[in-house]
Amino acid sequence: MTNIAEAPNSTADALPEVDVAKAGEAYRAMLSVIGAVEPRIADAIRAELTDQRGSLKLIASENYASLPTLLTMGNWLSDKYAEGTIGHRFYAGCQNVDTVEATAAEHARELFGAEYAYAQPHSGIDANLTAFWAILAHRVEQPALAEQGAKNVNELDEGAWEALRKQFGDQRMLGMSLDAGGHLTHGFRPNISGKMFHQRSYGTNPQTQLVDYDEVARLAREFRPLVLIAGYSAYPRRIDFARMREIADEVGATFMVDMAHFAGLVAGKLFTGDEDPVPHAHVVTTTTHKSLRGPRGGLVLATEEYAPSVDRGCPLVLGGPLSNMMAAKAVALAEARSQAFRDYAHAVADNAQSFAESLIRRGATLVTGGTDNHLVLLDVSGLGLTGRQAESALLDAGIVTNRNAVPNDPNGAWYTSGVRLGTPALTSRGFGADEFDVTAEMIMDVLANTTPVTASTGKPGKAKYDLADGVAERTHARSAELLDRHPLYPGLEL
Ligand SMILES: *Cc1c(COP(=O)(O)O)cnc(C)c1O
Repeated sequence: MTNIAEAPNSTADALPEVDVAKAGEAYRAMLSVIGAVEPRIADAIRAELTDQRGSLKLIASENYASLPTLLTMGNWLSDKYAEGTIGHRFYAGCQNVDTVEATAAEHARELFGAEYAYAQPHSGIDANLTAFWAILAHRVEQPALAEQGAKNVNELDEGAWEALRKQFGDQRMLGMSLDAGGHLTHGFRPNISGKMFHQRSYGTNPQTQLVDYDEVARLAREFRPLVLIAGYSAYPRRIDFARMREIADEVGATFMVDMAHFAGLVAGKLFTGDEDPVPHAHVVTTTTHKSLRGPRGGLVLATEEYAPSVDRGCPLVLGGPLSNMMAAKAVALAEARSQAFRDYAHAVADNAQSFAESLIRRGATLVTGGTDNHLVLLDVSGLGLTGRQAESALLDAGIVTNRNAVPNDPNGAWYTSGVRLGTPALTSRGFGADEFDVTAEMIMDVLANTTPVTASTGKPGKAKYDLADGVAERTHARSAELLDRHPLYPGLEL
């Protein structure tokens, strides 16, 4: 993707207005048909809308897909088996799935300016697994096959195959540490990636809490990874992907970026130039349901060089494609090519900035001192709380967040000392700086009124807490007022 500095012009047309009344009719009919078979499921679907509408959702990895995207998921495309790739399926009769997958891939390529896009991964983790095996195929398997004069692994004799299997297990990956915001799938032991690769991680500078590229370079020279991976779930800053690619090139690593969290900010042209991973990475993976605001799923983008290896994802590590979900990805990606989506992405980051400022003004400590993406990481240790206590107290007050480790977290990955807050979902509902200011005020009010409860051992407890009387009630009332001002799927009635 190195030659495409700027993504090609997106369609950038205005999106057609969604006919909400019609969507409501469709959902009412759907629920009545489903309810006749299993009423508990129809009820759960209705209840989920009520819950989503009534919660102040600050989970940085969640969002609200559009009604057209949601409506695309439930249909008979799901009934078709279509293992293989567009035009090369292991099953007959895949012409409509081919149309669906090709449309999703085309939108992804155009949106991100990628040479190649693979729309099959069922989730972000599946996208990563697809990418890891594609990199191993390209960097390890193919050279071994060439050396043996074999076309594929079936042609290797037993000895050569065993040698290749061992080589797969000898490869190294360098990724961001978990407590600096990295992801479990980036080579950590509890995940399959940590069993596939020898792993080392780079953290952040203890003073600035920012990625220290010279330190990444030093580690890369020392460790000589096959894969250098960038990307995060809880780092509130942008990454210089050009610099990371230089480091990868210097040590002969494949440079992979997992943009699961911030794909919407790339799609919306907020992250451009050195901050856009696509022109710099060999392989880019993402989810489609976080800031990208599509259906639950994954994507892999790659250079032409890696494309044939990525194409082997199914049935290498992926089950048969979920064609209904690929169809929904196509719809969401088409939406993401609009000017409206660019405006949305910019609003997500603007809101995160003003949210961070509002929190700081009220005495909050933020990891890195702020944000320039879609999330902030609130360090609650100064308030005498663990992340677990803060998360629970906020939830009691109707504010949905998740606890998260901070760099070198003294409370570990379970209790943690941080709370992660993201703006993508509430920005989709139309929240702006004023609403995030009120939200910041409510958060700091709840936390100021939360006290840890001493454990029976006499030590400060890490889970139990006490929330002062009346705080949950007043917070619920204020957030209900905010949420009423910005309804979710306005006009949709079930
Ligand atoms: C969320 C996330 C994933 C996993 O996505 P799933 O769809 O839940 O499998 C992978 N990588 C990163 C960086 C993420 O934030």
